[in-house]
Amino acid sequence: MLKALAEGVIDLFLPRHCAVSGRPLLDDDAGPVAAEVLRRAELVGADYCTRCGAPQGAGVGVIGECLSCREVRDGFGTREIVAAGRYAGVLEDMCLALKFGGAREVARPLSAWLTPLLIERGIADKIDAVVPVPLSALRTLQRGYNQAELIAGGLGLGKPVLNALRRMRPTDRQAMLSLAQRRRNVEGVFKARKPAVIEGKTLLLVDDVMTSGATFAEAARTLKRAGAKAVYGAIAARAALGEDS
Ligand SMILES: [Zn+2]
Repeated sequence: MLKALAEGVIDLFLPRHCAVSGRPLLDDDAGPVAAEVLRRAELVGADYCTRCGAPQGAGVGVIGECLSCREVRDGFGTREIVAAGRYAGVLEDMCLALKFGGAREVARPLSAWLTPLLIERGIADKIDAVVPVPLSALRTLQRGYNQAELIAGGLGLGKPVLNALRRMRPTDRQAMLSLAQRRRNVEGVFKARKPAVIEGKTLLLVDDVMTSGATFAEAARTLKRAGAKAVYGAIAARAALGEDS
């Protein structure tokens, strides 16, 4: 309590800073990211890939397979994935601040972008529960939180958030691997934690960034093997292979 009180006093005297630009937040900024920075984010519009959620640029329309997921013939084990936008610019900076900069409150605007998309595309109505892609125990300990769980918790769809998966080992050093290698690398990496709870349920799997989709697909397949009826996906940003250094 003393610590909270001390932090409250410090907040009174020090300006808060934007988690992305580092500039002091203005009075009308809700934070943690300055409104001026949020406005520059390139969010998905009416043109997107239903398979991976990636924005396609004006005029392309809604498609079922974009260039980024053309290699993934058998899909990601999901019915449809929603992404707030591409892993670039402001969205990339926000994901990096959330994942590596300790800025856990950056999850809030990311969730706020995903929620209306999930409602508009009719996914919010179809799901029974939300499942974050877990980190390994070691990575959770190092980071102090799971960014996917923070995004899942902020969706506010009125559905329970279930930590239904356990990650047996970290797999986040995949940048140099081919798609086939990534798939082998993630095989068996998840275990269903509460099969009884997810049996017959339609679930929304949530993560911050999806690149090859190998990890995401393995998580979705683990849920389905454990008895889930169907899995949808929500990710903050869709990266193409080679973008996740
Ligand atoms: Zn796609």
